[in-house]
Amino acid sequence: MKFIRLLPEFYREVERLFRQQDLKNLLEQLPDLEISGRCNCGDSFCSTFYVKPLRQLNVVEENIIGVKQGKTIDLRAENGMVNIDIDNFDRLTTFEVLFRPDVEQELTKVFMRKRINKR
Ligand SMILES: [Zn+2]
Repeated sequence: MKFIRLLPEFYREVERLFRQQDLKNLLEQLPDLEISGRCNCGDSFCSTFYVKPLRQLNVVEENIIGVKQGKTIDLRAENGMVNIDIDNFDRLTTFEVLFRPDVEQELTKVFMRKRINKR
């Protein structure tokens, strides 16, 4: 499921925030991103979702360097909290979205929240 189709409004917001922080390389990845699933931590305020890394790795990258967590960037969203994770090849992997009922509403249409009983 394409990010732009599933969350069109949030997509535009992310696009704008990327521009504000001059994240050109990440901006280029946006149109083709596919959402692969959501976080199932069960926290009511968490609408974190994962995307499929876009660029295929070559043999050296895959087997010798290996995929590692790169860094987390705070997008400084006006509403809630939005961080993105990229791997060591600068590929977007995760959108950490907290306190955003608007995103949650759209996300649950496709990815059901797994209820976790916390005792
Ligand atoms: Zn979560």
